[in-house]
Amino acid sequence: MKLENIKIVMVETTHPGNIGAAARALKNMELSQLVLVNPKCPIGERAYSRGSGANNVLDERVIVDSLPEAVTDCQLVVGTSARLRSLAWPELTPETLAQKVSGLSDDEKVAIVFGREHAGLTNEELKHCNYTVTIPTNPKFSSLNVASAIQVVSYEIYKNMLEVDDSESMNISEPVADSAQLEGYFSHLEQVLISTDFLNKDNPRQMMKRLRRLYQRAEPSKNEVNILRGILSSVEKYKK
Ligand code: SAH
Repeated sequence: MKLENIKIVMVETTHPGNIGAAARALKNMELSQLVLVNPKCPIGERAYSRGSGANNVLDERVIVDSLPEAVTDCQLVVGTSARLRSLAWPELTPETLAQKVSGLSDDEKVAIVFGREHAGLTNEELKHCNYTVTIPTNPKFSSLNVASAIQVVSYEIYKNMLEVDDSESMNISEPVADSAQLEGYFSHLEQVLISTDFLNKDNPRQMMKRLRRLYQRAEPSKNEVNILRGILSSVEKYKK
């Protein structure tokens, strides 16, 4: 999934400050597509001032007349709501939304739709959404400012992308050690630990089991196991 393929859609927003604050939130999270459905205010000085430098996002905003028009090219459309609806709709949390988004392919497009300040989204508008997302809040005071809601959802998506990038960069492309190689390592390790008196042959307790669990959890590569065996050999050589 590419961040540039995510649209933040604001429906009939009435306060220019909210549009500016939303643009700022987008830019903070490396999003760039702001789509305004029939905005009820001018996008002028007040919006730019609240945007605090997110001018490019405001300059490049797209204005359309209706929600279907805003989401027509999107594979995933998600509506946001402060409250549960009488009409049950498949729900995601901000976190599961972020996971879903990061699992999409690079050419898929996503729209996340935010409602009017005073009235949210209509049930008719929600029908265009595959899912709804509600940010968990105080049940007695559940409605966030629309730009704050955009910030929270965008942050979850951004954070998830960073985590995915991180785990990919940690992916070692070397072949992983097979069980036979690990078994060879474990018996070598046991032998050395006995020879150094770290392990009592007559009372080994759970030591080898714990060490096995540790190494198996790490899923070491063939190369890494060779290094570990090299360390054991150096201990043996030193002992002699
Ligand atoms: N009175 C309206 C509140 C609208 S708040 C209502 O009951 O729906 C304006 C917009 O901010 C909402 O349409 C939604 O897009 C977003 N929003 C506010 N609080 C939210 C929350 N807790 N979870 C998800 N979106 C929220």
